[in-house]
Amino acid sequence: MTDKLLTKRRFKDGDNSHRPWQEEIFTADASHKCPTYVHRTPPCQGSCPSGEDIRGWLNIARGIEKAPGDMAWQEYAFSRVTDANPFPAIMGRVCPAPCEDGCNRNEVEDHVGINAVEQFIGDYALEHKLGLPAVVAESGKKVAIVGSGVAGLACAYHLRRKGHACTVIEAHEELGGMMRYGIPGYRVPREVLDGEIGRILDLGVEVRNNTKVGVDVTLEELQSEFDAVFIGLGAQSGSALPVPGGDAPNCITGVGFLQAFNDGRLQHTSARVLVVGGGDTSMDVAAVARRLGHIKNKRKNDRPENIVLGHTAHDAATAAHRQGADVTLISWEALDDMPATKMEVLHTSREGVKIMGSLLPVNVILDDEGRATGIRVIDVDWSSGKSEKIAGTERDIECDLIVAAIGQAGDLSGFESLDNGRGLIDADGFYRVKGHPDLFVGGDITKPHLLTTAIGQASIAAAGINLFLSDADMKKRPKVDVHHFSLLEKLQETDHAPGAYEHKQVRGTDGADFAIHNYEDRSGVEVVPSDELFLGHFKYEDRNIRAEHDITPDSVLGSFGERIQGLSEEQAKKEADRCMSCGMCFECDNCVIFCPQDAIFRVKKTESTMGRYVDTDYTKCIGCHICEDVCPSGYIRMGLGE
Ligand SMILES: Cc1cc2nc3c(=O)[nH]c(=O)nc-3n(C[C@H](O)[C@H](O)[C@H](O)COP(=O)(O)OP(=O)(O)OC[C@H]3O[C@@H](n4cnc5c(N)ncnc54)[C@H](O)[C@@H]3O)c2cc1C
Ligand code: SF4
Ligand code: SF4
Repeated sequence: MTDKLLTKRRFKDGDNSHRPWQEEIFTADASHKCPTYVHRTPPCQGSCPSGEDIRGWLNIARGIEKAPGDMAWQEYAFSRVTDANPFPAIMGRVCPAPCEDGCNRNEVEDHVGINAVEQFIGDYALEHKLGLPAVVAESGKKVAIVGSGVAGLACAYHLRRKGHACTVIEAHEELGGMMRYGIPGYRVPREVLDGEIGRILDLGVEVRNNTKVGVDVTLEELQSEFDAVFIGLGAQSGSALPVPGGDAPNCITGVGFLQAFNDGRLQHTSARVLVVGGGDTSMDVAAVARRLGHIKNKRKNDRPENIVLGHTAHDAATAAHRQGADVTLISWEALDDMPATKMEVLHTSREGVKIMGSLLPVNVILDDEGRATGIRVIDVDWSSGKSEKIAGTERDIECDLIVAAIGQAGDLSGFESLDNGRGLIDADGFYRVKGHPDLFVGGDITKPHLLTTAIGQASIAAAGINLFLSDADMKKRPKVDVHHFSLLEKLQETDHAPGAYEHKQVRGTDGADFAIHNYEDRSGVEVVPSDELFLGHFKYEDRNIRAEHDITPDSVLGSFGERIQGLSEEQAKKEADRCMSCGMCFECDNCVIFCPQDAIFRVKKTESTMGRYVDTDYTKCIGCHICEDVCPSGYIRMGLGE
């Protein structure tokens, strides 16, 4: 028992009765605080590196936010998605969806299937050949974009929206970077890729393909021809296996293997393939190797390493003789901690790849010709938090081909002066290269990560380039740096634009038409946490999960079709309906129904729009905060009113 008095107590000594419920509800707990409508960023959006207005397009899909005129909801949702991200059909398929990890609905039963709805919107746009908004006015400024990966193309898109001329300079014949030469077609179908890239080019983006900066043209030449340069080189070089024997001819890199497969040169692989690495690239290598299989009695020239190193190419007809390949994947990380997306790990193991975690390569076992015939590995123990080799656990795994997918770096030939010493380029908060006012950078060349990360960086870089080209100061980026819903734009779109502000002293804003009464936009500074939502409002609803084609170890050989099947319109709307609209009103009427003073009222139908659905009569409000308590989306906060 403590001898200190409690400092915070709900009841005082002697408090042993309560007032009648009637009184408790209608007059008790009066305060000077009245509801204000505070727009905040939902955590899904806060954790989407592209900063998509996810809540916005989900609310459009579920019919809460209406499309203007007779526009289809899908088209309106597409325009909302592409404010931030011009690749919804690709992202809906292969983004590991950090947004879903952050989703507040996880506190109810399961996250909203955000990328499944995103895929539906992206596929609808492709099917209906929806374009991106046409450029309104040309600025007369020109920007060179080095690299046509997702970073370069997203940057070109955002710059065209601001009217700047863009020229994409690409070393390869075709555009798309790792979306085309890394990620296999059964994850990103090429017609989807071509469709999403084509839409950006239709905005008037010029392309110089087969042109390598540093070889065919120098960076300095670009700097003198263009007003600014964006560098999106990606990380094209795979790291070799750093163990004795790791330089054997049949020890190749994952990016080399996938590039040879994706450009059609590699038609089959070896009978026993060993993949090293626990990331997405190694999963792709292993899954592709299972699909390619091997052929018996292949000629020396046809060995996969010769194809990968570009010495020759397979005759496509040999594919008819494929037989299955045994594929083993080893990862230094423990199985549960592998960096690869969980879904990819699941798919790959379902397709017959043997995955082993907590194993470290010791050396490559070589034959008399210096070719790898196996790899010696040792178990590691992670129980102390660090990896510790377990003595006496060394053993050999036999194989005919080793593919190392253990990391990537940039090829900075021609950009040597920008090298940060680790084969990458450093950027400041605006994605400008430090010390070079006209050079901006984004994507994997700053640090290899995800497609959505490259898109987000490119969008910030494009905003920075726009300021640089307009001779404006670089404005401080918002704390929550995402593409925000703008109530003002929404009011303008729906012909409810506020009147002009006359810059004179006024008392009270509830009747003024220049102000949006009672509304505060804190989306640039706050993310709304789940404990500020009234979660009791939501009943348990299963997630609408996309169906998958069942690819088994027996059917994987030669199976290059897409694995996942998109949602139907009905499923997409149902899934969107699970969204709790965190940080924004979704017109549930709880506050109107539960306010004991009838102080809360619906804004007139002719004046209401998304985010402007309810209002408060401060002359009636007693500050009891029931509305705040019953608001499921955390949109109401008790602020000071009159
Ligand atoms: C196998 C693999 C699977 C992946 N899977 C996923 C996934 O499922 N989900 C996900 O979100 N991310 C995935 N990633 C990561 C993702 O692909 C990258 O983060 C993304 O592609 C980076 O985009 P980028 O534009 O920076 O670079 P890149 O896509 O690499 O594009 C760079 C472009 O620049 C060009 N280029 C380079 N140097 C020059 C030069 N000197 N002159 C002219 N052009 C040049 C290249 O040819 C290339 O086209 C994967 C990566 C790999 C390798
Ligand atoms: S891009 Fe990725 S993180 Fe962003 S909304 Fe789509 S799935 Fe989520
Ligand atoms: S419930 Fe909706 S708004 Fe809230 S975090 Fe999830 S997807 Fe975003």
